[in-house]
Amino acid sequence: MRGGVFVRKILIRDGEAVGVEAESGGTIFRVDAGRVVLSAGAIRSPHLLMLSGIGPEDQLRQFGITTVCHLPGVGQNLMNHLSTQMTFKVKDGITLAPHTDAVHFGLHYTAEGSDAVNDMLLRTSPVVDPRRERVPGVRTKYLTGNVPPDQVARISCTLGLPDGSGYVRLVSADPAVQPEFNYRYLQHPNDTRRVREGLRLAARLLESDAYKDVADHRIQPTDDILANDDALDLWMRQTVGSARHVSGTCKMGPDGDPMAVVDQYCRVKGVQGLSVADASVMPRIPRSGGSHATVIMIGERVVDWIAGN
Ligand SMILES: Cc1cc2nc3c(=O)[nH]c(=O)nc-3n(C[C@H](O)[C@H](O)[C@H](O)COP(=O)(O)OP(=O)(O)OC[C@H]3O[C@@H](n4cnc5c(N)ncnc54)[C@H](O)[C@@H]3O)c2cc1C
Repeated sequence: MRGGVFVRKILIRDGEAVGVEAESGGTIFRVDAGRVVLSAGAIRSPHLLMLSGIGPEDQLRQFGITTVCHLPGVGQNLMNHLSTQMTFKVKDGITLAPHTDAVHFGLHYTAEGSDAVNDMLLRTSPVVDPRRERVPGVRTKYLTGNVPPDQVARISCTLGLPDGSGYVRLVSADPAVQPEFNYRYLQHPNDTRRVREGLRLAARLLESDAYKDVADHRIQPTDDILANDDALDLWMRQTVGSARHVSGTCKMGPDGDPMAVVDQYCRVKGVQGLSVADASVMPRIPRSGGSHATVIMIGERVVDWIAGN
């Protein structure tokens, strides 16, 4: 066991993983192993596979990497939850919790016309958002006469189960050079539609009795933007934010799926002795909001399978 070690690639001989090439303290060395389990996360696991010759052949060829196994799905299907933030001015005289003490609550619901249950999430943050750049036009300083700054809170609209996905691609054959990635947010029409409708639902909730003692008025998106599909789509694209639930880039699937990278035991297809055990094997991002628990479960299952249980 040794920390501070950077893996450069997986070593493969006759179609079987036999160890890794690694670097530590400026020294490059090899570690031999009877089995390799890759858990480098959904950006770096596909990156390491590609550096090792496992991935889309055309991309590997472009960077002079010899193809060991052509798996076109490596680096595809990149997912991460996206959110848009509706902001509102909080009524004067109301004291909101500081960030650290905030209690978050959310509404999981199924979008109109969705075949997947609870594919959307609205969440109110009962905290003041002090970030000026997030809420243009908001007064963050005291005025003369001791008039306090505006208090702003938000309802975030999260797309729990996106239909669209992005990619991770090689930029170089040098392991030290980070790969390129793109979530391709809001490119799928059904994603745009559901977020648009989610924001309009949030606006209706904000005008309901539940918020009447707290919400003074909505700041963003404005009425003009909210009423117009094109303007709202543009606003969403300009303000969309990302979670940290990166997943999907070495997805699990049956042999009939040409984009599947691992089988139901997380073993890389076409290579012996090589598994992936992290968020990259998820065929679809978990809708619940977080990915941590699912990743732990994947790790525990792979340990069980390897132990032969
Ligand atoms: C700031 C933050 C907050 C989050 N909050 C939540 C939350 O509240 N709830 C929730 O459910 N989820 C949360 N998540 C998501 C959750 O942490 C991830 O889904 C989970 O950690 C993913 O696990 P993983 O094994 O796929 O990848 P990671 O946890 O990223 O593990 C990959 C590991 O591989 C290492 N590595 C990568 N490349 C190499 C290499 N070449 N050589 C050696 N080592 C390498 C990395 O250093 C890292 O330690 C959060 C994530 C972040 C970043």
